[in-house]
Amino acid sequence: MDKKNNAIKREYAGQLKEIIKFEAERKTFAKVFNFETLMAVHSLAKKGYFDKLEFVVSTGKEAEVFRAVDSAGNFRAVKIYKINTSNFTHMIDYIQGDERFRKVSRDKREMVFAWTKKEFNNLEKARKSGVRVPLPITFQKNVLVMEFIGEKGEASATLKETKSFDLEKAYGILTTAMAKLYKANLVHSDLSEYNVLVKGKEFVIIDMGQGVLLTHPKAKEFFERDCKNLSNFFSKKGLKKSPEEVYNDIKALTKTL
Ligand code: ADP
Ligand code: MN
Repeated sequence: MDKKNNAIKREYAGQLKEIIKFEAERKTFAKVFNFETLMAVHSLAKKGYFDKLEFVVSTGKEAEVFRAVDSAGNFRAVKIYKINTSNFTHMIDYIQGDERFRKVSRDKREMVFAWTKKEFNNLEKARKSGVRVPLPITFQKNVLVMEFIGEKGEASATLKETKSFDLEKAYGILTTAMAKLYKANLVHSDLSEYNVLVKGKEFVIIDMGQGVLLTHPKAKEFFERDCKNLSNFFSKKGLKKSPEEVYNDIKALTKTL
């Protein structure tokens, strides 16, 4: 058994070296992700979606986001969901009730894979409805590959971190995005200044794993919470809008689309 474990450990270390450029990142990866995750990353690299993971852009409760680079030097964002430390009970709420994922088992691993697929599908749906999100490229197990939002290899700041931007314009873009998603039958369910990246003049909406279809029993509650988040943020910045006003502005926009 020990022999087998050692062989696995050696293989893990070997693959890790192939896929991750720097020692520090290799350590982070090995601490958080199991062999199965490494194999998924490896398989995606072999298919040419990227060549190497370079460094961690963000460490979250549920996922780590890496910058990756392909053989031509193009950057990608690779979001890897944690299987063991994932906020599992939080996920159940957003998966049960979404008709697309009704059959998902309550097994933690299966649930995280479904979540990854859900984020991919939601990004695709958002993109098709004309909302600016990172272009989804592919996914496998708990690994999602998407367009890297940044300039000259530097990830864009979130709206929360951005000091100067056109308040009216940002409000218009984000409410229009919510209206477009609504028309496409989707609620983001975690829309806030933390999940919008500002790239030049673009406001890019990210983090769509918890997005649900309108038929989800809590869709209305999630939609109203998104309105409340926008209301809080814009009011604080000086564009006073009550949650009801945000709600009505979005509803009015859906009629013009
Ligand atoms: P979570 O909040 O669940 O950890 P997010 O999807 O919000 O995951 O990503 C966390 C952070 O990673 C973002 O705030 C951003 O800094 C970075 N990030 C996520 N996706 C991208 C992307 N496509 N391009 C560049 N940076 C990204
Ligand atoms: Mn986020």
